[in-house]
Amino acid sequence: MKITVLTICPEQFGDFARTPLIARAQASGLLAFEVVDIRDFAPGSFRAVDDSPYGGGAGMVLRVEPVVRALEAVRTPSTRVIVLAPSGTPYTQKKAHELAKAEHLVLICGHFEGMDARIWDYADELVSIGDYVLTGGELAAMVIADSVMRLVPGSMKAESVREESFEQGLLEYPQYTRPADFCGKKVPDVLLSGDHGAIRAWRQQEALRLTRERRPDLLGETGAEEES
Ligand code: SAH
Repeated sequence: MKITVLTICPEQFGDFARTPLIARAQASGLLAFEVVDIRDFAPGSFRAVDDSPYGGGAGMVLRVEPVVRALEAVRTPSTRVIVLAPSGTPYTQKKAHELAKAEHLVLICGHFEGMDARIWDYADELVSIGDYVLTGGELAAMVIADSVMRLVPGSMKAESVREESFEQGLLEYPQYTRPADFCGKKVPDVLLSGDHGAIRAWRQQEALRLTRERRPDLLGETGAEEES
């Protein structure tokens, strides 16, 4: 799988591209991660990537031309194009699984006040990472790239993915490590029992309890109407 990010702030991805998950996956050939500077595709000596909005208003708008030229330079017939936008479909673990099956993902980051709306026409879909506004799409692209890459077969143990939060529609059960007693706070006895059946049952029950307590919406136990 290959992930290409189109951005006007390529330097923001330096440390991210060096994280162990990505470095390891790249070294083993499972994955390629590429960052492309939209500025390299902006015409003129100023290489301006933004301009003021038609109709007036605050801020600057990312121009369509350099973005589309950058996209054309990297896309192949199998490319899936995602535009990061607060107005996009809310991102979920289910979507991460879907994107992990793609051969090539392009993530387009907006900046400034936003982007020329004609850029949307070049996307397969618009994705939002939550109901808040970021300064640019870079952090959103990292969120998507990170959550997708760890699902690419071979980058993590299938077992550790299977038991994680959201995979079975539940949050993950609580985890503990040494010491068994910290200031009187004890690790549940069952985890020290060596009884794998009992441990499995306890974890299932705890996953359900935590989900009910913290995210009842995942169980369909609170209606959306209650929240809105
Ligand atoms: N004025 C715009 C926000 C622009 S924020 C509006 O009100 O909708 C600048 C850029 O940051 C956006 O173009 C987008 O690429 C990115 N961005 C901001 N918040 C985001 C979010 N919640 N999810 C995904 N991308 C986001």
